[in-house]
Amino acid sequence: MILRIVCLLLAARLGVAAVPTPESYFGHPIGADRTVMDWDKVVGYFQVLAKGSDRIRFDELGKTADGRPFIAVTISDAATMKNLDRYREIQARLADPRKTTVAEAEKLILEGKTVVLITCSIHATEIASTHTAVEYAHRLLTEDTPHNRAILKDVILILVPSLNPDGVDIVTRWYRKTLGTPYEGSAPPELYHKYVGHDNNRDWYIFSQPETRLTISKLHNVWHPEVTYDVHQMGANGARLFVPPWLDPTEPNIDAILMQEMNMMGTAMASDLTAAGKTGVAIHGVYDFWTPSRHFMAFHGGLRLLTESASARIATPTNMTADQIGTNALGYNPRERSWNYLEPWMGGPWRLRDIIDYQLIAWDSCLYNAALHRTELLRNFYRVGQRQIARSDPAAFVISSDQRDPGATRKLIETLRFGQVEVAQGAGGSAVVSMHQPYGGWAKTLLEVQHYPEDRLYPGGPPKRPYDVTANTLPMLMGVDVKAVKDSVSASGEWQAPAPAAGPVLKASDSDSWKAANRAWSQGQSVWRDPASGDFSLSARAGWIERKRPRVALYQAWTANMDEGWTRWLLEDFGFAYTSVHNADLQAGGLRTQYDAIVIPDQPAGSIENGHRAGSMPPEYTGGLGPKGTQALKEFAEAGGTLIFLNGATDYAISRLGVQAKTVTPARTGGRGGDPDFAGGDRTAGSSEFYSPGSLLNVKVDTRSPLAYGVPAGIAIWSEQSPAWDTQLPAVARYPESGILASGWLVGDKVLANRAALIDAPMGSGHAILFGMRPQYRAQSYLTFKMFFNALLYR
Ligand SMILES: [Zn+2]
Repeated sequence: MILRIVCLLLAARLGVAAVPTPESYFGHPIGADRTVMDWDKVVGYFQVLAKGSDRIRFDELGKTADGRPFIAVTISDAATMKNLDRYREIQARLADPRKTTVAEAEKLILEGKTVVLITCSIHATEIASTHTAVEYAHRLLTEDTPHNRAILKDVILILVPSLNPDGVDIVTRWYRKTLGTPYEGSAPPELYHKYVGHDNNRDWYIFSQPETRLTISKLHNVWHPEVTYDVHQMGANGARLFVPPWLDPTEPNIDAILMQEMNMMGTAMASDLTAAGKTGVAIHGVYDFWTPSRHFMAFHGGLRLLTESASARIATPTNMTADQIGTNALGYNPRERSWNYLEPWMGGPWRLRDIIDYQLIAWDSCLYNAALHRTELLRNFYRVGQRQIARSDPAAFVISSDQRDPGATRKLIETLRFGQVEVAQGAGGSAVVSMHQPYGGWAKTLLEVQHYPEDRLYPGGPPKRPYDVTANTLPMLMGVDVKAVKDSVSASGEWQAPAPAAGPVLKASDSDSWKAANRAWSQGQSVWRDPASGDFSLSARAGWIERKRPRVALYQAWTANMDEGWTRWLLEDFGFAYTSVHNADLQAGGLRTQYDAIVIPDQPAGSIENGHRAGSMPPEYTGGLGPKGTQALKEFAEAGGTLIFLNGATDYAISRLGVQAKTVTPARTGGRGGDPDFAGGDRTAGSSEFYSPGSLLNVKVDTRSPLAYGVPAGIAIWSEQSPAWDTQLPAVARYPESGILASGWLVGDKVLANRAALIDAPMGSGHAILFGMRPQYRAQSYLTFKMFFNALLYR
C-alpha cells in the first residue's frame, strides 16, 4: 500500500502516466542501423507523450506544402505549462522596450523563463535530429535528474521535430525502396521539399513556403525565443560536429551582444561534448553568418545556434579510413589539431546512432546553459531591443506611392510586416519604415545595399567562398523605389495599400497584372496584348494581338534540381499552367504540337545531357537528354517554339544546339546547386578571375525587345556565377562598361564589361532565349520575373 502511494506520488511528481518508450512505440531502438521513421508515426508518438504528461503540449500549427501536419510541442514543468499565456506576455513585453520601462523589465526578467526553440531536419536527408527529438523528449519527461529538473524549471522548450515533414517521408520512402540494393544510402532523385529542396533553409526573409510561414507566424512572432537551435548534418569526411562561433563575415546589422552569446553558448556545448569524451568537435569553421535567409531570429533579438553533424549514408553506417579524411575545410584542417579543432577524428565506423549520441549531449548542454543563464539571456534580449530602437543610421526608409510596380511594392511591404516590421502611412500615400523600432535592423538589412567584405583565402589569394549568397537588397530584386532618409519623417497610423487603379488595361510592369492576366487565361478568357508596350487587356481592342494561353513545359531532371523547383513554384504562384517533362518526354519528339515554350532550369550542360551515370542510381533515374533530346529540342525551336535556358543551362544551348555566342566567364566550379551543407574537401575558393557568388549586377536593357516589356532600361539582375557572352546575336541585356556591382560581391568586373547577359537567338522560325542570370531567383526577383514571363509568351 505504502509502496503504491510512493509510486503514485512519484508518477505525479514526474507528471507522467504510462508513457511508452520510443523503442516500444517504434518497434526498434532509436537510431538502430538501417531504421528510418515515417512522419505519421513521429506525430503519433508526440501525441502519445502529450496525453501521458502534464509537462508537454502538442500543437498542429498547420499543413505542409504536401498537406502533412506541421507540428510543435512545448515542454516545461507543470507549473509553467499552466501559465504559458503569462510567459508569452512576458516575452512580448521584453521584446518591445518602447512599451516596457527598465524597472518593469527587471521584474519580468525575474519572473520569466528562457524560451528555446529547437528545430530539426529541415534538410530531410539529415535525418538524425528527428530521431533525437523523439528520444530527448522522452528522456526530459521521464528521467528525474538535476539537469532535467533545472531545464524544466527555467526553460520553455518549443520543439519542432521536423521543419520539413514532407521530406521525412520522401527520404524514408526512398531509403526503404533502395535498402539492400547497390543504391542504399543514396539521396532521392526528387527534391526533398515539394518546391525548394535544400533551399527551404534560404526562405527566412521572403517567406514563400508554408513551413517557413508557420514557423515565423506561429512560433517566432508569438514566442520571441531567446535561443533558436537549428540541427543539421554535413558531409562525412571532416569534423563529427560543428558548433558556433561562426566564421566571418557576420551581417553588420546583427547586435554584438547576440554574437557574443552565440560564441558563449557554442563553446559551452563544445566543452560539454569534449568532457563527455566526444572527439572531432569543431568550432569557428565552415559556416559564416552573412545571409539573412537563414538568420531571421538574429535580427529579432534571439541567438541562432547551429550544429552540423557528420553524416552517415542516411541510416546506413559508414566506415572511413584516415586517408579519406579531408585536408582542408574553411577555418580548420580536419587532420590537424588546432585551437578550434582540438581532438581530430581520424576515421572508423560512423552510424546514425553516433550522430544522435552527439546531438543528445549538445541539446542537453544548450538547454542546461539556457537555464543557467536565464536572467542574462532575458536581460540581454531586452537590451538588444533597446539598442535597436536607438538606431539612427538612417532615420527611416521611405517608399513613395509612385511606383512602377504597385504589386511588387505591396509584396515588399507585406514581407517586412510578416517579420513584424511596422510600416506607417507617410505623406502622399507613401510608406514609412522608421528605424526606431525593435526590428528596424531587420528592415535595414532587407532594404539597403550589401557591401560584402573583400574576403580572400590569404592576402592576394583566391576569393574565399561565402557560405551562401552575398546580396539580399529587396528594392533592387523587386524593382521598388525605396529611399533612406537622414531625418525622421512624419507618419501616422499603419500604411494602407491604395485601391488598385480602375480600367481594363493591365500594365506589363505590374506583377499583379501578370497574376490577373493569368487568372483570366486559366478561366479560358482571351487576353489581348499591346505589341508596343506589352500591356494586357481583357477586352478586345483594335490593333492588339490576341494571345492564347502559352503551353509551357518545364524540364525536370532526376538530379533533384532546386532551380527547377523554384521555377515550378513561380509558375504556380503567378497562375501559369505548365507540364513537367522528363528525359523520355522530350526525347519522344513532336514537341511543337504540344508546347509553345520549353524551360530548361539552371543545370550544367553535361548534367542535362548525361544525368546520373549508369550504376549510380536505379536505371530508371539514370541518363540525360542525350542526342535524341538535343535533336528534339532543335526541331521544336525550328518549328516556331521558344526554348528558354536559365543561367548555367545556357551552356547547353551554345555547346549542343549551336547558338552562336562565346562565353567569356570561366566555367563554373563548385558553388551551390544541390550540394549538401558542406561537401568537405577543397571547395573553399572561387576563381580569382571572375567570381559572383550570388550578387546583384547592373545591366542595360534594350527596351524595344518584347522580352523587356514592363522592364526599365537600367536594372540589377541576379548573378550566381552567371555566364556572360561575346556575341553578334541580339543582346536584350548587356553589362555596362563600369559600375557593374550593384549589391553584394563581385570579383573581375572587367570580364563582364559590355558583354551580353540575355540573348535572343533566332532558331528556324522559333527562338532560343539565354538568360545569363537567375531571373526567377528564390521567389524574390520580381523585376526579372517579367522578362521570364515575357519569354514564355514570346512567339
Ligand atoms: Zn542542413
